[in-house]
Formats: sequence, structure tokens, C-alpha cells
Amino acid sequence: MPQPIRVTVWNEFVHEREREDVRKVYPDGLHQVIAEGLRASLGEAVEVRTATLDEPEHGLPEEVLQSTDVLLWWGHAAHDRVDDEVVARVHSRVLDGMGLLVLHSGHGSKIFRRLMGTSCMLRWREAGERERLWVVDPSHPILDGLGTDVIEIEQAEMYGEFFDIPAPDELLMISSFAGGEVFRSGCTFRRGKGKIFYFRPGHELYPIYYHPQVRQVIAGGVRWAVPSGTPYTQEARHCP
Ligand code: ZN
Repeated sequence: MPQPIRVTVWNEFVHEREREDVRKVYPDGLHQVIAEGLRASLGEAVEVRTATLDEPEHGLPEEVLQSTDVLLWWGHAAHDRVDDEVVARVHSRVLDGMGLLVLHSGHGSKIFRRLMGTSCMLRWREAGERERLWVVDPSHPILDGLGTDVIEIEQAEMYGEFFDIPAPDELLMISSFAGGEVFRSGCTFRRGKGKIFYFRPGHELYPIYYHPQVRQVIAGGVRWAVPSGTPYTQEARHCP
């Protein structure tokens, strides 16, 4: 049997401890529900642990990152409390091949903005409105087995364009919202040897990380982002 994919789910874990309405949806934190979804979707193919902001080194010391194949990132209220040293460490691991899934409001995180080189800002409205995520790249491996060309979420926070990211390597899904806006909701990027997947769904007030199709796409993202490719060296090489 192949080695399981070693996944770390990182969450700032702030809203769930401060707000009763959020605790109702995610009593043990968003990270636990995301981790549970991965275990349910991928079974023994995955080994999942979690890390949060208040742990020493935010739960991401060197040894954790070195033994992580794919890191998931959820942050919102405390992006600026993430230590620059930890960001630099995650950045360097991504360049070295660790996969990274950035979820929802993680668009504003230091690590995503550093990897993208742009502001990563967007338009938003919190109105609990309907979202449809339309598949625009049906043969993409992240979407394997999804079995639908549109994911419907009854209550979502709106994110709209312009989303200030560099042109993605691949665009998998576009969201439309009841209010009329559209958004690039599933985007891949490559930086160094690392694969990055930005996936929009998931707001702390709505039970979106329990949604079976959202869970399936996150699991597909983890499978896809596993380190791969040919080892290389940065040392100078002379042609004979
Ligand atoms: Zn949100």
C-alpha cells in the first residue's frame, strides 16, 4: 500500500472561540470539520493533523512542515497575527514541493499574498445568498468523481470580481451569486516545485465544510497537490 498523504489543516481558530453563532456551526473549530471531511473522503489514503494560531510557532514548527505533504490554510480575523518567520518557513516549504490549499478568506493571508505577489483582495457581501459553482474544467483531476457540473450552496457569503490574483495556471470553477456577481472560485498555481489550489467556499457562519461536494473538491485538491516531479538542484551546471 502506498504511504498515506500527510496533511496538516491550519486554522486561526478565532471566530469559533469568540462568537456563539459561529460555535453553533463549528463547535470544535473549522479545522476539525475540514479534517473530518478529509478522513471521510480519503480514508486510509490520508493522515490528517491540525494546527492553530495559538500553538507555539502556530503549530507549524520546521519538523511539522517537513513531514507535511499538503497544508490547508483557513484564516480571516487574524492574518496580521501570523508570525513572518512562520510565513517564510511555509513559503520555503511550498517552493520545495509542499502542496498548499488556501480556503475562502485565506485569500487575505500573508502566505497567499506572498506567493501570489498581489493584494489578493476582492469584493464581498455577507448576505447568506445562494451560490452556484460552475465547473469550467470538467477533466481536471481535482474534480474527479464530482459527478455534477454545478455545486449549489444555499447560503454563502458573496465574493465578487475583481479578485486581484495573477492569472491562474488553471481555472476550474466560476461562482455566480444571487446578487449577480461572479468569481473565480477554483484556481491552481505553481510556485517552485509546489502546487497551490485556491478554493472559495467556506464561511464561518455557514455549514459549508459539511457540504458533501465541497468536501469532495477539497479532497481532490489534496490528492492533486501532493509533491511530485523531478528533484533538481540550484547549483550551477556546466554543459560539456
Ligand atoms: Zn467569510
